[in-house]
Amino acid sequence: KTFEDCGFSLQLMNAITKQGYEKPTPIQCQAFPIVLSGRDIIGIAKTGSGKTAAFVLPMIVHIMDQPELAKEEGPIGVICAPTRELAHQIYLESKKFAKPYGIRVSAIYGGMSKLEQFKELKSGCEIVIATPGRLIDMIKMKALTMLRATYLVLDEADRMFDLGFEPQIRSIVGQIRPDRQTSLFSATMPRKVEKLAREILTDPVRVTV
Ligand code: AMP
Repeated sequence: KTFEDCGFSLQLMNAITKQGYEKPTPIQCQAFPIVLSGRDIIGIAKTGSGKTAAFVLPMIVHIMDQPELAKEEGPIGVICAPTRELAHQIYLESKKFAKPYGIRVSAIYGGMSKLEQFKELKSGCEIVIATPGRLIDMIKMKALTMLRATYLVLDEADRMFDLGFEPQIRSIVGQIRPDRQTSLFSATMPRKVEKLAREILTDPVRVTV
């Protein structure tokens, strides 16, 4: 299977080829058609599988498909990750594909100046990648609104639970419109994560690699 088989446009193909990605990884082969069709997904996959691009590439398509949103404020894509290291990795992967299309990406996590992050968010972005605690802080400071958000990803959900982020995740999800598209990725599916998935995803497709 090729990226073209998965329905990516020629325009996006250029960016994919530039990264040296020749063909989709197994999780990408499974995830792309589901996510590109607009459905929710539970992806059971580990780091190294190519899971980041599995949700980042369809997010770029999702954002480009909604030019009417350009006038509004706040991120369209929201990605939550457990640690600043992972958030930064997702940021780098997103930036590669977002930049050629003028899509702005902000990374928001602890250990960076809140004032700097506040200013960056105020200047606008289409994608925000964040650790849950810092994202809540920024929402409380009114650095951003979730009104435009329609594409939510919870990455490494099991680790976010291990780190005690369940209340923050629930609070963030509660601020995003219910007709959003949601993706949940996790290496394992403990009962608590399964319960959250049942509550916040709509008729999800489950894929395992
Ligand atoms: P991840 O599992 O998302 O952390 O990705 C692991 C590594 O694989 C990252 O360095 C990605 O840039 C790279 N990668 C993702 N998708 C592909 C692909 N289709 N072909 C080659 N490398 C990829």
